[in-house]
Amino acid sequence: MKIICIGRNYAEHATELGNSIPSEPLFFLKPDSAVLAHRHPFYLPDWSDDVHFEVELLIRICKLGKCIAPEFAYRYYDAISLGIDFTARDVQKEIKSKGHPWEKAKAFDGSAVISRDWLALDACENGAHNTEFRLERNGQIVQKGNSKDMLFGMDHLIAHVSKFMTLKLGDIIFTGTPAGVGPVQAGDTLEGFIEDRSMFRVPVR
Ligand code: ZN
Repeated sequence: MKIICIGRNYAEHATELGNSIPSEPLFFLKPDSAVLAHRHPFYLPDWSDDVHFEVELLIRICKLGKCIAPEFAYRYYDAISLGIDFTARDVQKEIKSKGHPWEKAKAFDGSAVISRDWLALDACENGAHNTEFRLERNGQIVQKGNSKDMLFGMDHLIAHVSKFMTLKLGDIIFTGTPAGVGPVQAGDTLEGFIEDRSMFRVPVR
């Protein structure tokens, strides 16, 4: 299983970090070792002083595919969910300035929160193309998004990524974070919602 993460897929988030709006989807990978085990706390790594939360809608790939045309992309995913792309922002800034790969800042152990619950696409209104989600930190809303505001929609993401790498059953796409990313501290609790359904609750240590 591979985890494909889309960067800068919401205009307000791209600009809040001082980045330009991309002309095509930007993506990177996390290894399966990045997945935070269910019901486990997230432990802040000791090599970063600025780990940020990024709440993101997830897509689950249900069929092997390569070079998928956008109009057929809907056949290749069957469920959505919610997760966090934890990012060591200080480390990312440093490696970005050197033009180095992002893995140190993005692919570390525990950096991929994936809800245990998946919502079948046929049960989602509008094929999940108008789905609200949010992240609460200690009960306060810190990020709010809607899939309709993605710069590149789910079908476009699948078409683009599958041009470069074969998508396999069970692969997961993190579709990018909306504005409002920020640092986490030991003692925080992060809870993510799709519409009003709680999808995960992660304590930070
Ligand atoms: Zn992200």
